[in-house]
Amino acid sequence: MPAMSSALSSAAASSPDELSVDVPALARLLDGRYRDVRDLVRTNLAEHASILEDAETMSCDDFRQRVLDVVQLMADTGQTGFGFPAEYGGGDDIGASIAAFETLALGDLSVVVKVGVQFGLFGGAILQLGTKPHHDAYLEDLIHARLLGCFAMTETGHGSNVQALGTTARYDADAQEFVIDTPDDRARKDYIGNAAMHASHAVVFAQLVVDGEGRGVHALVVPIRDDEGRPMPGVRIEDCGQKIGLNGVDNGRLWFDGVRVPRTSLLDRYAIVTEDGRYFSEIENPDRRFFTMLGTLVQGRVCVGGAAINAAKVGLAIAIEYGLHRRQFGDPGGTSEEVLLDYGMHQRRLFPLLARSYALHFAQERVAADLHAVFSDTSADGAAELARRSLESRAAGTKALGTWHASRTIQECREACGGAGYLSVNRFDALRADTDVFTTFEGDNTILMQLVAKGLLTDYKDSFEDLDQIGMVRFVASTAVETVLERTNARTILERLRDAVPGGGRGADDSPDAGLLDSSYHLELLTWREEHILSSVARRLKSGMDSGAEPARVFSLCQDHVISAAHAHVERIVLEAFLDKLETLDEGSNRDALKVLCDLFALSCIEDDRAWFLEHGRLSNARAKAVTAQVNELNRRVRPVAQELVDAFNIPREVLRAEILEFSGS
Ligand SMILES: Cc1cc2nc3c(=O)[nH]c(=O)nc-3n(C[C@H](O)[C@H](O)[C@H](O)COP(=O)(O)OP(=O)(O)OC[C@H]3O[C@@H](n4cnc5c(N)ncnc54)[C@H](O)[C@@H]3O)c2cc1C
Repeated sequence: MPAMSSALSSAAASSPDELSVDVPALARLLDGRYRDVRDLVRTNLAEHASILEDAETMSCDDFRQRVLDVVQLMADTGQTGFGFPAEYGGGDDIGASIAAFETLALGDLSVVVKVGVQFGLFGGAILQLGTKPHHDAYLEDLIHARLLGCFAMTETGHGSNVQALGTTARYDADAQEFVIDTPDDRARKDYIGNAAMHASHAVVFAQLVVDGEGRGVHALVVPIRDDEGRPMPGVRIEDCGQKIGLNGVDNGRLWFDGVRVPRTSLLDRYAIVTEDGRYFSEIENPDRRFFTMLGTLVQGRVCVGGAAINAAKVGLAIAIEYGLHRRQFGDPGGTSEEVLLDYGMHQRRLFPLLARSYALHFAQERVAADLHAVFSDTSADGAAELARRSLESRAAGTKALGTWHASRTIQECREACGGAGYLSVNRFDALRADTDVFTTFEGDNTILMQLVAKGLLTDYKDSFEDLDQIGMVRFVASTAVETVLERTNARTILERLRDAVPGGGRGADDSPDAGLLDSSYHLELLTWREEHILSSVARRLKSGMDSGAEPARVFSLCQDHVISAAHAHVERIVLEAFLDKLETLDEGSNRDALKVLCDLFALSCIEDDRAWFLEHGRLSNARAKAVTAQVNELNRRVRPVAQELVDAFNIPREVLRAEILEFSGS
């Protein structure tokens, strides 16, 4: 095992009111069932930690090669193959592959994204969309990174709206080949990881045309380079060039001009084309077919969310440790200056983000477990189908909140380290630049939040996947609004009664503080917010439609409201995941510390949205102020165990790297 912080082996001394943390036990809890997998990745990260420095010193081409070398070395240890079938050299364990990917994000993020492209996107598409002949042809080589590939979905003209892609794959029955074409520059494949230098093959998403009839977007395996690394005939490749971050990944553009591939290149799990040019699919509805295909690729989204949350932990580990040593200002008569973390504002800036990282960690653990369960279950009954839809929604929401959280946290931590935070050697440079795009790829966050809202508004009805935005508005206006209103109204009467009491109906006294640390009160507030927003969105959509407005216009006018509903929903399920985790823990110091973090997370959410709660009469002025005072008090309680709480992230010292930590004497 790589070296860890000394605090990992010692529990802090405690007084009755003071929290203490058993760091090794908390680290074990965070690692969960995949501790060995995570330890393997930590060992690999420590071994290749010099790549963090290489990112700053090497030329772009050299660094891309270095990233590839590290990915291939890691593949040799089995770290990247957990999610693939054992018969091809994989580990047959999807949960393990997510744990490995998340842990990898403690280190260089170009390596993470290169791994994501090669094994998650390229490998995942062949595994999930292909059938045995494709698995036999490619999986063993790609798992061992001998065959390098890319995932060519996005085009310059279409990223979020994949159904509107322009690339075509026409079946030529005489030759039994597909002919791939890029009709214009808007249809060129863009931003494609691994395409500019390393990939020999691409999974290309294109509009399938069979016997003159368009069949929607399907995926095909297309060789793009020959054995010498030259583009195949008809393939044009261009480098996307320098990016804000992730410059160890070779993103590129692809054009296809009459490129011919055999009929068997079609990844045909969901649709086949016969030799004589007939198209068959068990899923008749083309929209449903498309969303079913895309749904099988949800793992990438889950992985990116988990990676972002872990990147945020790295930022917090550096900023909190630095804040415990760095002194600035203080009592003029005193002998030494104050440490930064003793300042209330410093605690304010960092501890709610620390609490949110823990909350998101447990929410991510839940979504990863759901993914593992759903993809290990081969039944196709209604319950399995509903579980898939609910997973897609949960994955979208957790990815969006996790990646937004990473950007916000890393920036705050950078500032919390002052000028030192700006030096590349202290890691924030790469962390900030490399995580930035996590909010965009694997689904733009704003689009993902619309997906979450769509699921809520339609209550995951059968037709959920067939609906575009316009269809969704019509659906809500015609049938779903009653269901949403029924669901939400049932609670309202009960809630109004409770509302009459400032303490949420719980405290024996009527003081503004009453019941503020009651977890069920937190959950009720967040649930009430979600249901209130959801029902008012449903009403607005319906009244817009009733007034005769165009569905597209109605949706566009309500869009911010729709996103708020999704946001409220995801924060509620994150809180629930944290509370569920607390339920599983034995009484003891770690449970107490996590309860404080959970309270801090919940009250910070309420405080962040206190204007809304005030507007809607759910908080009185006095209670809103009491929430703020309680957040400060919780920060004060976290302060003595802040170091232990980041030590429990178990980030190898080698990848923490930051020089400021050595300078500060730790
Ligand atoms: C570094 C990097 C690596 C990538 N790697 C790959 C890869 O390997 N393979 C691949 O296929 N793709 C890849 N992508 C592409 C990525 O998945 C897309 O950029 C992403 O899906 C967003 O698409 P877009 O860029 O076309 O943005 P758009 O879809 O045009 O969105 C632009 C903005 O408009 C907003 N917007 C769009 N539609 C709506 C709407 N209906 N309502 C409200 N707002 C809207 C979005 O929220 C967003 O803020 C990569 C991108 C980058 C930057």
